[in-house]
Amino acid sequence: MPVATNVGIIYRSTAFSIYLMTQSIFNVIASNQPQTWQEILSDLITDPKELVEALNLNLDSKPVSMAELRKFPLKVPRPFVLAMKKGNWSDPLLRQVWPSKEEDIKKEGFSPDPLKEKEVNPVAGLLHKYQGRVLLTTTSLCAVHCRYCFRRHFDYDSNSPSREHWKNAITYIKNDSSIREVILSGGDPLAASDRQLSWLIERLESVQHIETLRIHTRIPLVLPQRLTLNLSNLLRKTRLKVVIVIHCNHAQEITDLVKAGLNLMSECGIVLLNQSVLLAEVNDSSEILAELSQKLFSVNVLPYYLHMPDKVTGTVHFSVSRSKALAIVKSMQAILPGYLVPQLAQEEPEKPSKTHLI
Ligand SMILES: *Cc1c(COP(=O)(O)O)cnc(C)c1O
Ligand code: SF4
Repeated sequence: MPVATNVGIIYRSTAFSIYLMTQSIFNVIASNQPQTWQEILSDLITDPKELVEALNLNLDSKPVSMAELRKFPLKVPRPFVLAMKKGNWSDPLLRQVWPSKEEDIKKEGFSPDPLKEKEVNPVAGLLHKYQGRVLLTTTSLCAVHCRYCFRRHFDYDSNSPSREHWKNAITYIKNDSSIREVILSGGDPLAASDRQLSWLIERLESVQHIETLRIHTRIPLVLPQRLTLNLSNLLRKTRLKVVIVIHCNHAQEITDLVKAGLNLMSECGIVLLNQSVLLAEVNDSSEILAELSQKLFSVNVLPYYLHMPDKVTGTVHFSVSRSKALAIVKSMQAILPGYLVPQLAQEEPEKPSKTHLI
């Protein structure tokens, strides 16, 4: 990346005091990088040492869990690192991706597959758990590895989709006319190429009873370069009603580049919603979540769910008690209009919907 490096050097040497200004200036500069999203995706940070050095931190002060790192490697796109504050181990974005030693903590009630997803997996790559909606594992790839992820132990190898898998999934969808909505999930569905998405959308469009295409993705936050004109054109032309549910956990994730990408999506009539996970020491306060709702609304995104973290092995340090969660949402109700308060929900096996806690 010679261009980016030169810009960085000039920037630092000519105006060191400006260097201390807001993170958004950095992002504007970063946005001038000619890198495509595919290039960024093939050049992720995977070495904990590289990540901490980019943030002026020292690995000795915060050991990693080697066992968990091996099972679920570190993966962070560089644009997301630019949104982190330097020199701060408590940065809420860093905490979401850091394979902390705390992942070794064991606790009763935490298991590798708390949602028992294996049991609602009728065809590889497809989950049919709730009426009228099916969830398709579009790709097993993610642009980032979120340490709280409930799919961190998911059997992606046997659910790694190929066209063959998709064909079986589409046959299943065709044969059940009660299905009105197809949810693309993953992994991260936007890690798939436009060509793959377009192939899939065309097949789904040809199924008459499908009305809505929903895309659940974290990529708009961690790799906003993915929100290209080409993608927006592809989603604009389908007859399906398109909903994108972004997975944003903290207002700091919404950089200028993220805003620009989301604007592009809302301008073509896509409904934008947000789902967050309630995470200890990331966003477990009503002030942080209220700021998130307000910032999301400024870019036409409405809050949808606030999820209790799933009880997945390795994520004990992210737990928030139910009573604290309820108190947080109650105080959000007191300071925000109703449409900016997300629904506090929990995913439980063998229930006809997500459990609404309030
Ligand atoms: C969350 C989820 C859905 C969608 O549920 P909504 O309440 O419609 O957002 C569908 N299928 C599965 C397997 C899910 O986990
Ligand atoms: S992007 Fe989603 S599926 Fe991928 S690791 Fe993060 S939470 Fe899990």
